[in-house]
Amino acid sequence: MPRPKQKLPRPTAKTVKQGDDVVAVNDAGEHVARVVEVRKDQVKLRWFYKPEDVVYGRQVWHGSKELFGQTRVSDWNSVHSVTGFCKVHTLEEYEDLDDVSGHDYFCRQAYDPHTGGFVPDVVPLFCLCETPYNPDRPMVECEDCGEVFHCECVAIESNKIPSRYRCESCRLRSAPSKPGVQRTTGETHAELAPAKRGRQAKTLTKTGRKRIRKDPNAPKRSLTAYNFFVRDYRKKYLADRSPAATASVIEVTRACGKAWNLLGAKEREPFEAKARVDKEKYLKAKEEYIANGKRDEFIKGRLEDREEGSKSPKAFYSGEVIVHPPG
Ligand SMILES: [Zn+2]
Ligand SMILES: [Zn+2]
Repeated sequence: MPRPKQKLPRPTAKTVKQGDDVVAVNDAGEHVARVVEVRKDQVKLRWFYKPEDVVYGRQVWHGSKELFGQTRVSDWNSVHSVTGFCKVHTLEEYEDLDDVSGHDYFCRQAYDPHTGGFVPDVVPLFCLCETPYNPDRPMVECEDCGEVFHCECVAIESNKIPSRYRCESCRLRSAPSKPGVQRTTGETHAELAPAKRGRQAKTLTKTGRKRIRKDPNAPKRSLTAYNFFVRDYRKKYLADRSPAATASVIEVTRACGKAWNLLGAKEREPFEAKARVDKEKYLKAKEEYIANGKRDEFIKGRLEDREEGSKSPKAFYSGEVIVHPPG
């Protein structure tokens, strides 16, 4: 996590208030927390998790300023452990910031380390790679279907984003049809309205607009070395305590992170080996999934679903259907 520039004054017992977001130091290093209560020179903090703290570890879709909320654990800390103010936004608010400073973070999900579960447990997926939105990765929107794609997934250089873009499936779909055969589609006037065309990628990357269904039969992503380590370490850590139940979730997570950071390359190797095997398994399964046409089948099904479901209410009531001229 980038350390916020110390432009804002350091919080003191006088200036820190309930509801403030702050950066504070605990035994797991610098973390962001929300102030739940203030008493004299003590602050009750509810810590946010970093992507590194959650069960999957940091993934490609996590933003560099992404945090996870939690509701289970808050603890009392000296106000002197607070090193600065910051602000944890919703993803939508974060997207609307004109200028993201070192003090700005965002949170779109809460995390429960007991279950490894997230709330909400479903976030919209984008692009051919079917991953959640990452505000740090440039995207481009197809002017026909409205789908957004990572520039790198569709081989567009992020500094050369075209003002108008049509995705591969839209280009294939609009290939000239046979002469004399009229093609009707589910596209409506609303969808073809000029406002929808040629918008810059930058303004198009709001979250939650479109949800792409994920194929339940697609191979599951592989685990990282850290994931394998946490599986083992969590069990050991809890077993060594008596009674195990008194170990707070945040404490276990911190302990895992700390223990992992203390491991040298040699000690990490067995976990790295497991991760390599798992990744190989995943890549092979994915290759098969693509090779036997299951992915194409799924994408095709998704496009058909969208065509069927894409009539705007207005178009539906007025029964408008655009008949494309042949060719
Ligand atoms: Zn992608
Ligand atoms: Zn498209």
